[in-house]
Amino acid sequence: MTAETKAREAICQVGASIFNRGLTAGSSGNISLRIEGGWLMTPTNASLGRLDPARLSQLDDNGRLIGGDPPTKESFLHRVMYEERGDTGAVVHLHSTHSVAVSCLAEIDPADVLPPITAYYVMRVGRLPLVPYFRPGDMALAEAVRGFAGKHHAVLLANHGPVVAGSSLDAAVNAIEELEETAKLYLLLRGAETRFLTPAQVKKLID
Ligand SMILES: [Zn+2]
Repeated sequence: MTAETKAREAICQVGASIFNRGLTAGSSGNISLRIEGGWLMTPTNASLGRLDPARLSQLDDNGRLIGGDPPTKESFLHRVMYEERGDTGAVVHLHSTHSVAVSCLAEIDPADVLPPITAYYVMRVGRLPLVPYFRPGDMALAEAVRGFAGKHHAVLLANHGPVVAGSSLDAAVNAIEELEETAKLYLLLRGAETRFLTPAQVKKLID
């Protein structure tokens, strides 16, 4: 199997896994993966649960479509991450329920949305900024994400969902799942007196 065939299979497997566990619904959510000479990306209006390896969008180094179906309309979210973060190998964006719910709360700190509930969240996600709301298709969203992407591999779009970059597809998926689980924990713990990790404990994890 060639590296590209493996990459196509990996995207479809990850997409099905995400969809089957209810981590994104309908035709929402998109995945991209860096390959030699460009990227593979999930197509527009495609459900992550039923991706066809042969129809994935293939883009060249300039972002031009050279094979497969047209890419997701949210491809600019991916592009910005690759442009601003040189070590990015994959990007995942989901409309995962708990993360979206948290992104709508008035109480959250836009500079750092979720508290340090677990060590794994701190290690895989870290500081999570909230990107202000823009209507779908507004290219101002791309520039807003660009403003955070240099410093953060994970961002949360207000009233929309998370975008996470990783060195590999596994790294990006693990991080976005950790984010979703932490958002769920945050909602479960809301209103309860909670001991989060202390600043000293967080510092040790980051060091
Ligand atoms: Zn979206």
